[in-house]
Amino acid sequence: MQYRRLGRSGLKVSALSLGSWVTYGNQMDTACAIECMAAAWDAGVNFFDNAESYAQGRAETIMGTALKQLGWRRSQVIVSTKFFWGLNDGPNEKNTLNRKYLRQAIEGSLRRLQLDYVDLVFCHRPDPNTPIEETVYAMHDMIEHGHALYWGTSEWSADEIRAAWEIAERHHLRKPVTEQPEYNLFARRRVEQEYARLYTDLGLGTTVWSPLASGLLSGKYRDGVPPDSRATVKGYEWMAARVTEAARVAAVERLRPIADGLGCTVAQLALAWCLNNPNVSTVITGASRVAQVQENLKAMEVLGRLTPELMQAVESATAL
Ligand code: NDP
Repeated sequence: MQYRRLGRSGLKVSALSLGSWVTYGNQMDTACAIECMAAAWDAGVNFFDNAESYAQGRAETIMGTALKQLGWRRSQVIVSTKFFWGLNDGPNEKNTLNRKYLRQAIEGSLRRLQLDYVDLVFCHRPDPNTPIEETVYAMHDMIEHGHALYWGTSEWSADEIRAAWEIAERHHLRKPVTEQPEYNLFARRRVEQEYARLYTDLGLGTTVWSPLASGLLSGKYRDGVPPDSRATVKGYEWMAARVTEAARVAAVERLRPIADGLGCTVAQLALAWCLNNPNVSTVITGASRVAQVQENLKAMEVLGRLTPELMQAVESATAL
């Protein structure tokens, strides 16, 4: 495993990490989560991603129980959560990054995760109805209270990230150290273009999500939706159309001979392509079973075999 600095911060994250969206609490119980986290840990993963909203808090509860049972030293493991959508319906309890919501949200997450602090906390989306300054102060205070060590944003525009960073700089507050954007062969613009200046100007790190575009980039949707895929999970049926889109499925098929030539799977090739970007601090993988964890983590071995010519071939194959 490689460990990369999370942007300009001193925190070292494993280049491949493991997340819990859709899976924990919908497809996996605690036993399966423990099995997957243990397999990831054995391969050198030190970062496990979560969010308040995943399975309405159940993903945090499962991860908390798993961490307790796995018994890793707290200083070895990096755990995150994210806030925005909330778990309740009140005007200050959902779709907000205001001070009142953030103050109670972290308390709930720490309770479910059975932790004294999270290492990373993300503002899960931008909130146009709260001044960025209010959110920056609230995130700073969360860190000062010892509830989190670092904070970042997720799917904020470059302008919003820069605004938050500059407010923190001006008032000597804790700065956002990372963004959590989508990044995969079909979603490249933000990471490669929009944020380009932020890596050098602000030292921004990235913890990128959906590296397989929800599994599409594994090639598993060639013949339609398999019965055990996330696109069949109640509440996620909307995904079926997206992961079976003909042009994208055909593009994934064009990756198959390249993967065959490298002696790896299509999923490993797609993950290694993400890892090859030096502005990616960690690629957050997802898995609904341990075999996927084991397969995906071998992408590290493929990374070293990616030549500029192969990178070009991969990008040409998936250009839509
Ligand atoms: P991926 O795009 O890698 O999709 C993961 C899913 O693809 C798995 O759950 C599994 O689904 C399928 N899969 C994974 N590996 C394989 C394989 N080798 N062969 C076949 N199928 C495979 O990542 P996610 O979309 O899960 O995102 C990763 C993490 O990023 C999340 O867990 C979460 O922590 C974070 N995230 C953050 C977001 C944000 O807004 N900040 C948004 C989304 C995710 P199945 O078996 O059901 O088909």
